[in-house]
Amino acid sequence: MSRFRVVICGGGIAAVEGLLRLRRLVGDAFEITLVAPATELRYRPAAVQEPFSRPGVRRYPLRRITQRTNAQWVQDGLEWLDPGEQVVHTAEGRSLPYDGLLVAVGARAATPYEHVTVFDDARPDDTYHGLVQDVEAGYTRSVALLLPDGPHWPLPVYELALMTAERSWSMNMDDLSIHLVTPEPAPLAAFGAEASNAVAELLRDARIDLHTGSLAEVPESRQLVIRPSDTSLEPGRIVAMPRITGPEIRNLPTAEDGFIPIDDRCRVDGLGARVFAAGDAVSFPVKQGGLGAQMADIAAEGIAALAGADIEPTPLRPVIRGVLYTGREPLFLTARYADGDIESEVSHEQAWPADEKIVAEELGPFLRSLDEAA
Ligand SMILES: Cc1cc2nc3c(=O)[nH]c(=O)nc-3n(C[C@H](O)[C@H](O)[C@H](O)COP(=O)(O)OP(=O)(O)OC[C@H]3O[C@@H](n4cnc5c(N)ncnc54)[C@H](O)[C@@H]3O)c2cc1C
Repeated sequence: MSRFRVVICGGGIAAVEGLLRLRRLVGDAFEITLVAPATELRYRPAAVQEPFSRPGVRRYPLRRITQRTNAQWVQDGLEWLDPGEQVVHTAEGRSLPYDGLLVAVGARAATPYEHVTVFDDARPDDTYHGLVQDVEAGYTRSVALLLPDGPHWPLPVYELALMTAERSWSMNMDDLSIHLVTPEPAPLAAFGAEASNAVAELLRDARIDLHTGSLAEVPESRQLVIRPSDTSLEPGRIVAMPRITGPEIRNLPTAEDGFIPIDDRCRVDGLGARVFAAGDAVSFPVKQGGLGAQMADIAAEGIAALAGADIEPTPLRPVIRGVLYTGREPLFLTARYADGDIESEVSHEQAWPADEKIVAEELGPFLRSLDEAA
């Protein structure tokens, strides 16, 4: 009898976490194929450090990951899905049948404004190092950092603001003005009230002007209008985070926000019991690697249960954990979501390894083992 076939589309945090969890649950019982166009898993969070000449993005070859997990890697992309026939069709014309499917193709990044530099975590030095150099040399005296509307992962814009402020003090310059514009009702509101208060205090201490509940307009280069306060500024440098948009795959449904709708067992709405989705591709207002990993773990349980494994998949109860880099001691933030409430925790003590910015049950130890073996 042929083995149960699982196809995982994606080569990022959620895809690899799902692969690892499946192997833990079913050993080598399933035939697992990873379909991903990229050659590496990119561990993106430390991208914000690179322009400050600190260790940046870590990369892990997918060939090595799939060899270690006894999976097949097809370097290709999911183009469209035939859920009736249970077949994934790829950009290069392959047809891959599945018994269980995990879609973890991430989100897309779009340019939110003309006339601004957009921070790109694939090229962090190109998009922010020049600004750091100009601040260090005293050429730039005012900076505006913008978070556009829509789903987002907000930590990096705060990290850039705090680390830029810290860099200017460390150069004995105290006249740098930094404005941070965000649609969030409070700083890092996704982490709950306690975290927002702690971050607001950090920003005050760093003399960063915070504009919450606000959106920016940039009519011309170096012209910034903040709504709804109608504040007009002329910052020396304006940097925005990208706008995050959904993956747009044929025959995969999209929610109002353009992302893939799932239920609390991470099954894609309207596609029956065999198609799961996880990570940034999914309709959830916060895009976060740790959360994507939790979804992938639940999806893996669901896929194992499909094949008859004695597992009762648990519903998603999101817990968001973040390490905020500040240029000094990092801040550890946790938010537990339950019944519409957010239970918020803040700690200056190390709650988990500070370089493990994405807290993922399988991926964390696995990547550590790859780092140790390198
Ligand atoms: C600067 C920055 C800092 C961050 N900091 C943190 C942090 O501190 N903590 C945290 O938890 N999260 C953080 N995040 C968010 C985190 O990186 C993402 O939430 C996470 O990478 C999402 O994982 P994913 O697997 O859904 O998508 P991705 O990691 O984006 O991976 C998507 C994968 O799918 C592949 N793919 C794309 N299209 C297709 C297709 N058609 N078919 C097959 N494969 C496809 C891509 O090549 C890629 O391999 C940060 C993000 C950024 C940008």
